[in-house]
Amino acid sequence: MTTALITGVSGQDGGYLAEQLLAEGTEVHGMVRDQADAGPVRLAHRALVTHTCDLNDVDAVARLIAQVAPDEIYNLAGISSVARSWAEPVATGQVSGLAVAGLLHSAWEFSQTAGRLVRVVQASSAEIFGNPRMSPQDESTPVAPITPYGAAKAYAHHMVRVYRGRGLHAVSVVLYNHESPRRPETFVTRKITMGAAKISRGEQSELLLGNLDARRDWGWAPDYVDAMVRAARHATAADYVIATGTSRSVREFVDAAFRRAGLPDWEPYVRVDPAFVRPVDAVDLTGDAGLARRELGWVPTVAFAELVGRMVDADLA
Ligand code: GDP
Repeated sequence: MTTALITGVSGQDGGYLAEQLLAEGTEVHGMVRDQADAGPVRLAHRALVTHTCDLNDVDAVARLIAQVAPDEIYNLAGISSVARSWAEPVATGQVSGLAVAGLLHSAWEFSQTAGRLVRVVQASSAEIFGNPRMSPQDESTPVAPITPYGAAKAYAHHMVRVYRGRGLHAVSVVLYNHESPRRPETFVTRKITMGAAKISRGEQSELLLGNLDARRDWGWAPDYVDAMVRAARHATAADYVIATGTSRSVREFVDAAFRRAGLPDWEPYVRVDPAFVRPVDAVDLTGDAGLARRELGWVPTVAFAELVGRMVDADLA
């Protein structure tokens, strides 16, 4: 039986990944930072074994890996919000950057002492490319972050390559934005679908947003965790861009969401609030997942209109 360890199991991706792995019969261990996160996770996934451990505590992570003896480690923990990384650059650098070095080192040491293969998947991000000069981006695009979050993820991405060079089966999946009804409202998609649903029911009068012109390549989160599993189990470890290949503006997302909620004209309800405009923001991130398609047989299954529809319908319900 395969044993998997997921860090950040209480997040959107951690939940979907735990469900996929449990459904196929994998023994799944989930790491949560504190007890407050552990309860809801246990309730949602009864077959999951939960462990309370801070990713920043390098020694505790090493002990946990030795105890669980995983075949696969999925690192989904960390500060996942670009917006928050501007307020907490040091904490972001620690947990989304430095702590990954600790995790990789512990996985490598465990694989050496146990004398067996450990497959490690790092959830990387399109933010490592900053404001890329080429579009779409792929695995050869220069890493040049422009946000504290992107810089932390870039360091982790490089460390995956460093440990792969040392012999660890370490994979970096460069994930473009991936959404679902489980996305927190700190992300623009869920903020919009929640706002559209509430405004359509008369429970909210306006929606305050930041940059409406930013373009992102939005995909369906369960597709992206499926890509992680495929990448983990591929014969060779590599980097993979995971994306749909099409970007849309925040404005287009707003328009689609309001229409779905029964409001054909969104403009009277939406206002730009400078508080949500970021100091620096990537203009357009669009990924080319050709390598993942060819080597892993991965393709996105949910297109933009369907994604917006599912999220709005969930919020209306
Ligand atoms: P990110 O791409 O990982 O930062 O995901 P987000 O969903 O947080 O942001 C996506 C894009 O939406 C970025 O370009 C933001 O600047 C833009 N955006 C516009 N208004 C908002 C807002 O009110 N909240 C958030 N989170 N992003 C916004």
